[in-house]
Amino acid sequence: MITIKTAEDITKLREGGKHLAAVLAELKKAAKVGVKTSALDALAEKIVRDFGDKPAFLNYKPQGAARPYPASLCVSINDEIVHGIPNENDRELVEGDIVSLDMGLVHEGMVVDSAITVGVGQIDTKAKKLLAATEEAMNAGIKAARGGKHIGDIGVAVEAVADRNTFSIADELAGHGVGYKVHEDPFVPNFGMPGQGPLLKPGMVIAIEPMLNEGGSEIRHGADGYTISTKDGSRSAHFEHTVLITEGAPEILTKI
Ligand code: MG
Ligand code: MG
Repeated sequence: MITIKTAEDITKLREGGKHLAAVLAELKKAAKVGVKTSALDALAEKIVRDFGDKPAFLNYKPQGAARPYPASLCVSINDEIVHGIPNENDRELVEGDIVSLDMGLVHEGMVVDSAITVGVGQIDTKAKKLLAATEEAMNAGIKAARGGKHIGDIGVAVEAVADRNTFSIADELAGHGVGYKVHEDPFVPNFGMPGQGPLLKPGMVIAIEPMLNEGGSEIRHGADGYTISTKDGSRSAHFEHTVLITEGAPEILTKI
């Protein structure tokens, strides 16, 4: 069921979204050569708790998962697409890595979700292009998410940017409704057909999150039950914002 958020919910989502943007800005600064992924997770949790909020992913058990997620943050490096576990699988960042930092927080009962991919030290030209294209794909998807349009229109916009840059889409993974829970309806694929899928209505809140790969679109599930990587070992990038659907242009909730 697709939920419509109330004015009071939206106020809380805006506040939580600003907090989450601040957390990701701090994590971006902290993601340097030699930093451990466990340290990024601890930093993320600390900032969230200092705001009086809660990490949304810690102990969250997605449908079909064998166990709850054990960290506050997802840290996915290079060929890892999403859901890398920063504390159990502790790694030191090295020069040239590209690192997806994906975080959800709960503010006064309302959940927001956002991700960025950052380069560690100097990254190569192709990595820069991958990051830029993935962020551009997210922004194109957001621009298409207008009240009266459809979920498929978002996917069309995302896919066009990926195609133009000759990157593939990790198309088994998608965005989602968010707000009362981490994952709500609707499913928000990063590909689609114009005018297809659920109608976008004012008050809907969705996470738009393209994941673009340098190589093929196929994915591989890690033995830890969470980490998802590219099957061919090529690098992947990920950007995500939580947005509010309105009568006109959507409002990005997870920005400062
Ligand atoms: Mg996320
Ligand atoms: Mg998400």
